[in-house]
Amino acid sequence: MSSDGDNDDFLYEDEYDDEFDQDDIDSTSEPDVYDAMSPAMEEAPQKKPYDVSWKVKTLQEIIDMQNKEITKVQSLLEVPASSAAILLRHYVWNSEKLQEQFWNDPAQALEAAGLSPPSSPTTHTSTQPTGVFECPICCMEYDYPSTYSMGCDHRFCKDCWIEYLSGKIKGEGESAKIQCMESGCKRIVREEIIDDLVTHDISKRYHNLLNAAFVADSPTLRWCPHPNCEYIIECSQAPTRMLNQLVPTVQCKCGDDLCFGCGYSASHRPVLCRIVKLWEKKCADDSETANWLQANTKECSKCQSTIEKNGGCNHMTCKKCKWEFCWVCMGPWSEHGTSWYQCNRFDEKSGIDARDTQAKSRASLERYLHYFNRWANHEHSAKLDAEFYQKTEKKMEQMQNSGNLSWIEVQFAKQAVDAVIKARITLKWSYCMAFYLKRNNMTELFEDNQRDLERAVENLGYLLEQNISDTDSIAKLRQDITNQAAYVQKRHDILMDDTLRGYLEVSYSAGDW
Ligand SMILES: [Zn+2]
Ligand SMILES: [Zn+2]
Ligand SMILES: [Zn+2]
Ligand SMILES: [Zn+2]
Ligand SMILES: [Zn+2]
Ligand SMILES: [Zn+2]
Ligand SMILES: [Zn+2]
Repeated sequence: MSSDGDNDDFLYEDEYDDEFDQDDIDSTSEPDVYDAMSPAMEEAPQKKPYDVSWKVKTLQEIIDMQNKEITKVQSLLEVPASSAAILLRHYVWNSEKLQEQFWNDPAQALEAAGLSPPSSPTTHTSTQPTGVFECPICCMEYDYPSTYSMGCDHRFCKDCWIEYLSGKIKGEGESAKIQCMESGCKRIVREEIIDDLVTHDISKRYHNLLNAAFVADSPTLRWCPHPNCEYIIECSQAPTRMLNQLVPTVQCKCGDDLCFGCGYSASHRPVLCRIVKLWEKKCADDSETANWLQANTKECSKCQSTIEKNGGCNHMTCKKCKWEFCWVCMGPWSEHGTSWYQCNRFDEKSGIDARDTQAKSRASLERYLHYFNRWANHEHSAKLDAEFYQKTEKKMEQMQNSGNLSWIEVQFAKQAVDAVIKARITLKWSYCMAFYLKRNNMTELFEDNQRDLERAVENLGYLLEQNISDTDSIAKLRQDITNQAAYVQKRHDILMDDTLRGYLEVSYSAGDW
């Protein structure tokens, strides 16, 4: 979510007290409270240099976008609508490139798109011969109306066409590139033919696939990744080349955040998209097995591949490089002579060197685990968010009943939970960032920011857990929570601002990414 633009107004000092006696909230101020809690949907205003603007589109708007382009090309090139669509899809909706190629060599452009030789689908029906036709696929005889051929004149029975088209759409998920059944014929099957032949369900699936391909082909569109959400995000400010400097976090109309850059289904600020990919891969590879590895394996001192100890024998042979060594001292087995049953060589040079290498690779695993455990801890907290909200809602009811506070007046608690949850997401990713961060003077600033936010969130979490007893304590708690929530928000914005601005100014440098 983009920040709400009023960071400068955050007060967390004692002078804030006066604000609380303001019980006379009139009806005109009510919409402000609602606005503050339901973030702006349409065209989020650009507030920070690292924020992007975006629009949320419906599927119908995406269909309209395509039809508009098709109509334009149809009249410019004087071709049927379905041909215009096939041409546009072939030229990945780049109508300038299409027009250039078309006017340069129309026959070549049509052939490249799978529309050669040019003929309208209607000219064929008029010249249809009479009598019976033997379908080359199923070898059955049909009268001509039960058969079909495109401009390429490859005729088959409709049953075979239906089976073929249904299989392509349902089985293989193909849409824009379905070709003639004749092997080697590159003629593309037109939209209206498919709609005419296949069942309603399959035709629907076909059009969904066409729309999905349109969105996938467009660098400025992305489906919302959240389950059951059918909105599409449009953003022209986050092209791939910018993703080294931007983390284009946007919010869908379904209420959830996503990253426009990589499609991650939540905010992963302040971490760059490609680092998130590296991290996810590393976690998938490492985290499940990391603890187990730590206890049960060692790395071969010759080739660094991981070796599992099985059984009680200390004589290990690396499966990969066949190096024979001792599990206890890591030294070469050849120096152990006949004392295979026990190792008493812990101080030999060969063993010390080998253990050094071992220690290095252990240290890198431990470094990873240090960051991963902190990352995972926040990830785990996020799973309890719903419960956190429920508990808070109960408290809000309690405060309305026993503290004589209005609905509006207890919203501070929900806003505090919002702040905690937002900050935890940022903290979570800050550990991934720290893992990949090369140590320099920016690292210290980053880690200071991280620690300050971690503490602020901890304190606010503690306050939100407090029990409410009497009216006096409610007033005090409300004040404390509001102040602390404002402080969390402020620390959050500072961490975000320093880091995201740092990308734009390229003051953060990556380690071995
Ligand atoms: Zn047939
Ligand atoms: Zn054909
Ligand atoms: Zn959505
Ligand atoms: Zn991303
Ligand atoms: Zn080895
Ligand atoms: Zn053995
Ligand atoms: Zn040994």
